Amino acid sequence: MNLDFKNKKVLVRVDFNVPLNDKFKITDDTRIKSALPTIKKILKDGGAVILMSHLGRPQKKLNEDGSINVKKFTLEHLVKHLSTKLKVKVKFCKETVGKEATKAAKSLKKGEVLLLENTRFNKGETKGDTKLAKEMSKHGDLYVNDAFGTAHREHASTATVAKYFKKSEKSAGLLLQKEIENANRVLNNPARPVTAIVGGAKVSDKIMLLEKLMNLANNIIIGGGMAYTFIKAKGGLTGNSLVEEDKVKLASRLLAKAKKKGVKIYLPKDSIIADAFSDKAKKDTVYSMRIRKGWMGLDVGPKAQKEFAAVIEKSKTILWNGPMGVFEMKPYAKGTMAIAKAVAKATSKGAFSLVGGGDSVAAVNQMGLSDKVSYVSTGGGAMLEFLEGKELPGIKAIN
Ligand code: AMP
Repeated sequence: MNLDFKNKKVLVRVDFNVPLNDKFKITDDTRIKSALPTIKKILKDGGAVILMSHLGRPQKKLNEDGSINVKKFTLEHLVKHLSTKLKVKVKFCKETVGKEATKAAKSLKKGEVLLLENTRFNKGETKGDTKLAKEMSKHGDLYVNDAFGTAHREHASTATVAKYFKKSEKSAGLLLQKEIENANRVLNNPARPVTAIVGGAKVSDKIMLLEKLMNLANNIIIGGGMAYTFIKAKGGLTGNSLVEEDKVKLASRLLAKAKKKGVKIYLPKDSIIADAFSDKAKKDTVYSMRIRKGWMGLDVGPKAQKEFAAVIEKSKTILWNGPMGVFEMKPYAKGTMAIAKAVAKATSKGAFSLVGGGDSVAAVNQMGLSDKVSYVSTGGGAMLEFLEGKELPGIKAIN
């Protein structure tokens, strides 16, 4: 953030897309907390901050008469909490652009913070509309993008708006910079051995990541639902496990490619299986290659946990994306927990660990281990795409 903020109005795109309960109380403020350093820095340097963010998908959940459900999706729900965190009384405007928003931004003084209404109340936002972006740009002398979680979207407030600022008038925020630095520590010249842990539901969501890892990792641990497509590719019996039939060939190809490149792939030797997708189902522990008809693998078993942990603890760089099982249900959370502990242990011995994308972030937070890993990313899809090697529109626009 090499900009001079003194006496400047700074338009900052943050990712305040936080979860709210039915009383509109914030249930996890990680995303707000992560954006505070950027906001505080601008205020400290003598600027005024105009914040833009989206919250949820208001255009997909319209009222019956086709209007926006303002009550549910307004960013006003965040004002009190943000004011407390910043120790500044945050002003709120019921528009993102328009007469009122222009007036509110114009009258904002140095040291003050204005939060504009949900960017996605405007139809043009997700279409990257130039007219909307131009209106947004008029609010600030400078533009800072700190919304890493939305950086993979080419929207009006994340990408198009940056066109209306000169190179010397725009920058990445501190969070965005930190996310990029940490991802690059894995991607560029990482300390070896590098171990990637990939889990979650589907192979199809992680194909690009797996391809990329073939040129990066020494070890790839595959768990979660996606492991069973690979087990099937190896000729295993998978019962009712989550297998993507149309990806079995691809899994075979990936296994062969890894072998050729000397990348070691670890699949779960054993699995916790259940006779239904429920925490109350009948359970058993079996070799993953021999899952009975009518049963499904819902977590990695104790042998797999032990083997995975041993590989992780010998690693110098660790990337983790996706849980090892259906960790939301207690009986199938042990595998993910074992991995989280192993990653924490390796980190305490000096490894660099990045937990990014997918539900592994939720798992690490749930287990209270987020302080015991090197970095937990705030961006699910965005981190995944960055690791895959894609250029994110939100980053491209400010560079
Ligand atoms: P992702 O968003 O790709 O990281 O996937 C996370 C989801 O995968 C979680 O909701 C898990 O419950 C689910 N999952 C993990 N392991 C399995 C499994 N063995 N069978 C079915 N779903 C799974």
